[in-house]
Amino acid sequence: NAQKHNREQAPEQIMKTHSNQLRIEHRIDSLLGIMTLEEKIGQMNQYSGFWDATGPTPQEGDQAAAKYEDLKNGLVGSMLNVKGVSQIKALQKIAVEETRLGIPLIFGFDVIHGYKTISPIPLAESASWDLVAIKKSAQNAAEEAAASGINWTFAPMVDISRDARWGRVMEGAGEDPYLGSKIGVARVEGFQGDNLASRKTIAACAKHFAAYGFVESGREYNTVDIGTSTVYNVVFPPFKAVTEVGVRTFMNAFNLLNDIPATGNEFLQRDVLKNEWNFNGFVVSDWGSIGEMETHGYAKNLKQSAELAIKAGSDMDMESSAYVKELVNLVAEGKVEEHLVDDAVKRILRVKFELGLFEDPYRYCNEEYEKKVVGKKEFHEDALDMAKKSIVLLKNENNLLPLKKEQQKIAVIGALASDKTSPLGNWVLAGENGSAISVLEGLKQYKGNSIKYAKGADVALPDSKLNFTQELDVNESDTSGFSEAIALAKKSDVVVMVLGEHGLQSGEARSRTNIDLPGVQQELLETIYKVNKNIVLVLTNGRPLAITWASENIPAIVEAWQLGVQSGNAIAQVLYGDYNPSGKLPMTFPRSVGQVPIYYNNKRTGRPNVEIRKEVFKSRYIDETNEPLYPFGFGLSYTMFSYEHIKINKTSKRNIKVSVELTNTGTIKGKEVVQLYIHDKYGSIVRPLKELKGFELVELEAKETKTIEFTLTEKELGFYTNKGEFVVEPGAFNVFVGGSSNTTLSGEFSIE
Ligand code: BGC
Repeated sequence: NAQKHNREQAPEQIMKTHSNQLRIEHRIDSLLGIMTLEEKIGQMNQYSGFWDATGPTPQEGDQAAAKYEDLKNGLVGSMLNVKGVSQIKALQKIAVEETRLGIPLIFGFDVIHGYKTISPIPLAESASWDLVAIKKSAQNAAEEAAASGINWTFAPMVDISRDARWGRVMEGAGEDPYLGSKIGVARVEGFQGDNLASRKTIAACAKHFAAYGFVESGREYNTVDIGTSTVYNVVFPPFKAVTEVGVRTFMNAFNLLNDIPATGNEFLQRDVLKNEWNFNGFVVSDWGSIGEMETHGYAKNLKQSAELAIKAGSDMDMESSAYVKELVNLVAEGKVEEHLVDDAVKRILRVKFELGLFEDPYRYCNEEYEKKVVGKKEFHEDALDMAKKSIVLLKNENNLLPLKKEQQKIAVIGALASDKTSPLGNWVLAGENGSAISVLEGLKQYKGNSIKYAKGADVALPDSKLNFTQELDVNESDTSGFSEAIALAKKSDVVVMVLGEHGLQSGEARSRTNIDLPGVQQELLETIYKVNKNIVLVLTNGRPLAITWASENIPAIVEAWQLGVQSGNAIAQVLYGDYNPSGKLPMTFPRSVGQVPIYYNNKRTGRPNVEIRKEVFKSRYIDETNEPLYPFGFGLSYTMFSYEHIKINKTSKRNIKVSVELTNTGTIKGKEVVQLYIHDKYGSIVRPLKELKGFELVELEAKETKTIEFTLTEKELGFYTNKGEFVVEPGAFNVFVGGSSNTTLSGEFSIE
C-alpha cells in the first residue's frame, strides 16, 4: 500500500499515510505484547460457519459446537461463509464482548463476481479487456459485500491456465500472464480502493499461490509438474503485479510445486512472496490445505502439518484446526519458534487495523445501510454494461447479425435460453438462483410474443442435483423435445440456439474430459441445421469449448459465457445490434480436446517443419491440425478494422516506440482491442513465439483512423531466467500488432 500511495499521492498525503502506518505498527506491537500464546494462535484460526448468535443447532453436530466454543474462548480470528449483517454482527459481538481482548473477527467470503448482484463470471469479464469496467465491477462487488458485513473477499483468482478441461478457468483471467496481471491489478484496485477503512471497500486475496492453474490433465486438485521458467514467467507475474499494488492477502493452494505442497512451500511463501516481493499482508491456507499435507504424504500427522505450514509461511489456517490444536504444543516443545507465530499474527492484525475494525468492529454492520445498498439499481446498470462488454462475436457470415428489428419469425431453441440460474455461473449465493434475465426474456423485450420458444433438449438435471461434490448428472440421451424444436425452426426466418454448459458445469471440482456441447445439444444443433441454416448460435459456458462442427457450419456464433443477472438483456442488445460487440478471447479455443493444453504463447519446437531425407518432419498430429479453432485475442465486431503502417522508433537503447494506424473501415462506430506482441528471437532460454506486451481498447467512428502507439521498455523486453533473475538480453525482436494473437502485421528491432 505504502508503495502505491507514494506514486499517486501528494506529499501531505504521503506523510499522513506514513504516520497512519506507523501508528498501526505501534498498535500492533502493543497489542501483541499483551496477548497470550493461545490468543495469538486464535488469530491464526479461521472457521466456516453459518450460525447466528444462538450458536449452531444440535443437528449441526459436535464439530460445529466445538467451533462455537472456540469462538467464545477467543480462539478464532476469522470466519468465512457467514452471510448478512445480522449474522455477522452477532458473531462479531461474541468476539468483541465475550473474549478477553475483544479483538474483532475478519469476515471473509468468496465474492467472486458480485455478492448479490451477480456480474459476468471472471473469465467473461476478462474477455472485455476493459480494465476500467473490470475495476468498476470489483468496486461494486466490494461496496455491496461490505454493506452486507463482509470485510474480505477470496478474489481475484489470478491463476493462469491453459487447460480448458479445468473447471476453474471460469474464475480467472485466462491463459496470458500479461493480460492476467493487468486484470488482476484492476480487480484488486477495485476491491480495495484507496482506503481500506472506507465503508465501500474490502480486502482482496490473490489466489491460489501458486501454479494451481496447471493441474495435470486439467483434473481438479491434481498434481502440478511444470518447469522453472513457466513458474517465473507465466505463473508468478500476476501475483507479483497485485503485490505491487498492495493486495492485502494471499491464499495458498491445494497442489504441489516441485513435489512440495504449496501450503508447506517455504520457497513460495517466504522466499518469494514475503522476502523478495516484500509482501506485508497475510497468507491464508486454502480450505483444509494444511491438514491435507498429511493426505499428500508430506506431513505425518496434523501436528507436523501445522509445523510445516507455519514454517513455510502460511499465516492463517482455513478449516484444518491444525494451528488451534497443535501450535501451542509445538511452541512449548521448541519445534516452532514463537517469533513465527508473532509474525503471522502481526500480519493478520495489520489488515484488521487497516480495515478499521479496531475503531469500530461493527462498521460494516448496519442493517439499514445493507438494505439500501445491496442490489441497488446502479449495480444492475453496471452489471449490464459489463455483460455487453464481455460478449465475443466469433463468427458472422451473410450478415445474419445483427437481427433485423423488422424480421418476423424468430425461433429460440435450447434449455439454456429460458434458464434463469445458469447465466449466473458458479460461485453464487444459493438464494440468487433464478435471478438472471434469460435470453428468451431479453429477446422478448424486443419482439414480444412473436418470439417463439422450444426447449429442444436439456443440459443438466435441475439445480437441486448440482451439489458441490456430487457427480453432475447430465441428461445425456433425451431427444423427445427435438420434434417440437424442428417444427418451430422450419417455420422461422432465423433460429437463435442457446447452447452450452450449465452454470455449475464449470467452477471448482468441475473438470471435464470432453469440452464439447454436453448432452444431446450437438445432435440438436445438427438436427435443426438440416431444416433451417439461418442459425445464430449463442454459446453460454464457463470455459473454451471445442465447437468445431459449429464453427464450420453455423453462420453466426456469439460467445456469451455466463453473464450474470443482466445476461438476457446484454445478449438481446448485441443480437439486435444496439450494442456492437468488442470482446476478445482471453483463452484459446481448441478444435478438439486432444489439443489441450493449447495456448498462443508457446515455444518454437526444433521441428516446426524440417526436411530430412526428403521427408518433412513436423511437430503435429496425424488426425488434427495444430491450429486452434479460435486464437487467443480473437473477436469480431459489426464493423471492420484495418491495421496499416507499423512504425518502430527506437528512442533509446531499450525504449522502443511502436505505432500503427487503425481504421474503422465499416459503416458503424465500434471498439477494437489493439494488441501488441513481441518475439525475442534468440535467448539464453527459449522465448515464446509471441508474447502479449501491450493492448489498448480504442473506439472509432465509421471511417475514422487513429494512430495507436505503444512503448516497450525493459519491463516488457525482459524475462526471468531459471534462477529467477530478471534479465534483458541484447538481440533481435519481432513485433506484431493486430486484433488477435494470430496477426501477421509485423516489424523488427533490436536492442543492445
Ligand atoms: C477454494 C478457494 C475458496 C475457498 C473458500 C476452496 O475450496 O479453492 O478458492 O476461496 O474454498 O470457499
